[in-house]
Amino acid sequence: MKHYLQHLECSKCKEIYPHDKPQNVCHSCGKPLFACYNLDELTNTWKPDSLLTREPSFWRYHELLPICNKANIVSIGETMTPLIHAKRLGSQLSLPELWIKDESRLPTGSFKARGLAMAVSKAKELGTKNLAIPSAGNAATALSVYAACAGIPAHIFMPKDTPSFNIKTCQLAGANVTLIDGLITDAGKIVAKRKEVEGWFDVSTLKEPYRVEGKKTMGFELAEQLSWKLPDVIIYPTGGGTGIVGMWKAFNELEAIGWIGKKRPRFISVQATGCAPIVKAWEEDNQTAEPWENAHTLASGLRVPQAIGDFLILETIRKSKGTAIAVSDDAILKARQVLPTTEGILTCPEGAATVAALKPLLENGTIKPSDQIVLFNTGGFQA
Ligand SMILES: *Cc1c(COP(=O)(O)O)cnc(C)c1O
Repeated sequence: MKHYLQHLECSKCKEIYPHDKPQNVCHSCGKPLFACYNLDELTNTWKPDSLLTREPSFWRYHELLPICNKANIVSIGETMTPLIHAKRLGSQLSLPELWIKDESRLPTGSFKARGLAMAVSKAKELGTKNLAIPSAGNAATALSVYAACAGIPAHIFMPKDTPSFNIKTCQLAGANVTLIDGLITDAGKIVAKRKEVEGWFDVSTLKEPYRVEGKKTMGFELAEQLSWKLPDVIIYPTGGGTGIVGMWKAFNELEAIGWIGKKRPRFISVQATGCAPIVKAWEEDNQTAEPWENAHTLASGLRVPQAIGDFLILETIRKSKGTAIAVSDDAILKARQVLPTTEGILTCPEGAATVAALKPLLENGTIKPSDQIVLFNTGGFQA
């Protein structure tokens, strides 16, 4: 397997770092590092036709993924997720081109598998010995499972009121689980404080450069499933924002190698009214988001009071001419019944939040009946 990974580059100050040893954030400005590939060489050598004979998993895009040696890939069946035409719900709402990208089909029950499959594979490649993660839930489950398969110890820090599905699955997969009094940001502080002494590598999203490379594959799949024509609108439930940032990166890389044109979907970021730092920053036209006080929502994946990639999320929304909107927990609970009864898709609360956003977005004219719209159901139903 030939690889095209060249180096890591700071997303803010553009400082360059080598990819052959573990890296976290930029040493100069503390911002996320992005993987850079030899796009010039790929432009001439890699064509979409090559995908026709490849397995239906996100590893089919390995030319634009950061694993250098195939032997290091840790895989438990990362299937391409279906893009479902929501005809019944679409006709109820007069949105004939409403589609759902159903991420609940991935291993570990959520799209966090994409990022953690990549991060753990890269950790294996670099010989990293101990992985630590602050999580709101699903990232912990995904790390526990992938780390177990790679034979790398995992140290999990999450709020004590994280959904029991996540706590139990981490324990079942043999991770060291610590439940804390506080939120994911507090868990992050504990990992940051202890990692040096304990010898842990911090796998916090966007403080580790490869989870976003895994999430990027949502953008590749979407583009391929729509025959390399991007939709008009992407509606995405936003916590740390890795999915939005990753898809934006994916589309830029695909354009650079000549597979898609200049058109980009309008990115609509959905948060919960009890934790909406990105929505607030968007409405106040700020470049970064202030930490959200007393964050609370039943959508645990959206309970992220502060994101290191805030400036990248806001920049993507701005550049894509999108917007950000908050929906209440009540609206999420009601919306949770919508996809099961219309399309037969059992949604997580975060996925339901995107459904809840449809009506207000239609009413205020942000989305139109002629738009092709893709909602992300980012995880499966959990009791
Ligand atoms: C983590 C998570 C999100 C938020 O994803 P980001 O890419 O970090 O914004 C949304 N939904 C679910 C189910 C999650 O687990």
